[in-house]
Amino acid sequence: MDPSDTGLPVRADLRGEKPYGAPQLDVPVLLNVNENPYPPSEALAADAATAVAEAVLGLNRYPDREALELRADLAGYLSAESGVALAAEQVWAANGSNEIMMQILQAFGGPGRSVLSFAPTYSMYPEYARNTFTAWVTADRRDDFTIDPDDALAAVIEYRPHVVFIASPNNPTGTAVSLELVRALHDAAPGMVVVDEAYAEFRRDGTPSALTLLDDHPRLIVSRTMSKAFAFAGARLGYAAAGRDVIDVLRIVRLPYHLSAVTQAVARVAIAHAGELQERVEQLRSIRDELAAWLRSLDLEVPESDANFVLFGRFADRHAVWQGLLDQGVLIRETGPDGWLRVSVGTPEETEVFKQALRKVLQK
Ligand code: PMP
Repeated sequence: MDPSDTGLPVRADLRGEKPYGAPQLDVPVLLNVNENPYPPSEALAADAATAVAEAVLGLNRYPDREALELRADLAGYLSAESGVALAAEQVWAANGSNEIMMQILQAFGGPGRSVLSFAPTYSMYPEYARNTFTAWVTADRRDDFTIDPDDALAAVIEYRPHVVFIASPNNPTGTAVSLELVRALHDAAPGMVVVDEAYAEFRRDGTPSALTLLDDHPRLIVSRTMSKAFAFAGARLGYAAAGRDVIDVLRIVRLPYHLSAVTQAVARVAIAHAGELQERVEQLRSIRDELAAWLRSLDLEVPESDANFVLFGRFADRHAVWQGLLDQGVLIRETGPDGWLRVSVGTPEETEVFKQALRKVLQK
């Protein structure tokens, strides 16, 4: 329902707005929201059960407001994953990277300020901007969805943004950015530069993480999530790495006790089991590459992907293709520029069902 129809005194800029979200449908093959298709292991579940039971016995008390043990574990994970030494005080955690990004705009955006990003990109970004009264401005990507450095720097000079969001790998295109571009944007932009690395663990060999730039780029923030590689989307845990003073600013806008004791406990267990995930991530990366090659063999266009999904097109009537797949029990995402569709990387079995279903749709 349109909130303006309720007669409630809703903010004028929210009239006509709809709650964000892809359809949550009960179909056999779910390849629409870039989840990890593999559930956490039985061993992880058993350890989480123990940790939750312990946390519940303390739920009469508020949780650790600073989540310091969790942040230390996340710092250890990031250091091992990227080779960049990080302390707990350089890491922040919240309920999904959605909340991290909102907190960044609460702290560094706001009325009279702007956030710049590169379209097409993650469709929640303009919503964070709206919710924090930050002006949303964009520069277009090239036709292959890479960012032209000259266009990006021109946009920085034109808008003087207080925050720049760069999703790398980008959703929905899968495109990663070079560290040279991140460096150049950081040096040209007056404000914070946020590299959203939600899908970083799926990057191809040779694509480095922006974590390696943190040391000498004081206005850089690198955001990550446990929703994808960690197979922990349901737990809601996002995190960010930056300089200690940047993290201290984020602590000002966070709600007190924003991360429940249960969330902190299960996230710590998942990090302790991070080693188990590596094999799955490797497998998903190779399925992604095979899937991209297969789609190209059908004469479809597929931008290079460093993520756990691929964008493919172009279709004169993408909705008909999306519907044709759904009719066969395969849910993908109708997102990105007109003519394109996005499919998440599933198990080998799910990927096979998707391929057969797409073949059928295209034969019609
Ligand atoms: N950033 C990007 C680029 C994403 O695609 C997503 C999820 N689809 C998020 C952030 C948010 O993820 P979460 O809140 O689950 O951490």
